[in-house]
Amino acid sequence: MIDIAAPLRLRLDSAALVANWRWLARASGAAACGAAIKADGYGLGARAVMRRLAEAGCRDFFVATWAEAAALMPLPQGTALSVLHGVGESDMVAARTLPARPVLNGIAQVRRWREAGEGRPCDVMVDTGMNRLGLRAEEAMAGALDGLAVDTLLSHLASADEDSAQNGRQLAAFRALRGRVAARRYSLANSAGICLGADYRFDLTRPGIALYGGIPRPEAEGYIAGVAFPEARVLQICDVPAGESVGYGAAWTAPAASRIAIVNLGYADGYLRCHAGHGAARWQGRRLPLVGRVSMDLAAFDAGGAEGLGEGDCLAIDYDLPAASSATGLSQYELLTGLGSRFERRWQ
Ligand SMILES: *Cc1c(COP(=O)(O)O)cnc(C)c1O
Repeated sequence: MIDIAAPLRLRLDSAALVANWRWLARASGAAACGAAIKADGYGLGARAVMRRLAEAGCRDFFVATWAEAAALMPLPQGTALSVLHGVGESDMVAARTLPARPVLNGIAQVRRWREAGEGRPCDVMVDTGMNRLGLRAEEAMAGALDGLAVDTLLSHLASADEDSAQNGRQLAAFRALRGRVAARRYSLANSAGICLGADYRFDLTRPGIALYGGIPRPEAEGYIAGVAFPEARVLQICDVPAGESVGYGAAWTAPAASRIAIVNLGYADGYLRCHAGHGAARWQGRRLPLVGRVSMDLAAFDAGGAEGLGEGDCLAIDYDLPAASSATGLSQYELLTGLGSRFERRWQ
């Protein structure tokens, strides 16, 4: 077999991932701290994330779909997995076979689980004002869940990353639910919800983005470290005379004779065209600004001043999540989950 080195890499920092979880676990107080690992661990690799966090003591994991759950089998010892999309008709075989709990999201799913779930435990999502997935709070309080073996009753905050009055309203609605609907545990907070304070912790928290280096709210600044670092390879150094342009649409013109590094990174890898104007790469401490339009598989960086940079050298791509988010308009979530399959994910 030919061993093909992947020249496009996502360097992943195990120690930072675990340190972020530990900080979130401390900020969760007496509540257990779980982990959202849907969308392949926000693009970093769900299995690798799960193994590292399970070793650190995390017990409760969340994915979106049964296909994501199946891909994580067998689960690490002592861990539990919940499937946020619940059970549609076509999910029942997987839901009865796999050691994971569905998060039931509506009356039809509750009925389906009562009829065919064989009494196994489930989780339930109740909507407290987001109007996305979940039973309506009135339905849950009117007895829709009576007799069901509910492990964890969840709700989800719509505006936890903002100082919005909606947070307090959702908190009050969730407290009312907890007084009326029986479950083993209650869980409300995502990453940003943990930062809102002790009132939001309940029995279990469910951080996602902050595990992976996203800053959900200012309270987390200085405590959450970056985990994912894209690195691209120089395919060619292009000497561009003054006045000539670079790339599609001639969007950048060299103001003087320039050395341009062409690298193997493009929008098909999740490095989208909206990085133009702000993006940069680093090499031996120097900053190389992104120039011109990002192509599907290529991008160009101004290597002026980076003496000695040549074909085969590796550039670190600037990918600070809050900074890249405010520069591009992409969310920190989009910046991570968009990173494509051509990256070799390399844990250190
Ligand atoms: C994705 C998700 C989370 C994690 O949210 P973050 O904002 O990434 O911390 C928690 N709960 C539910 C229901 C989710 O869908």
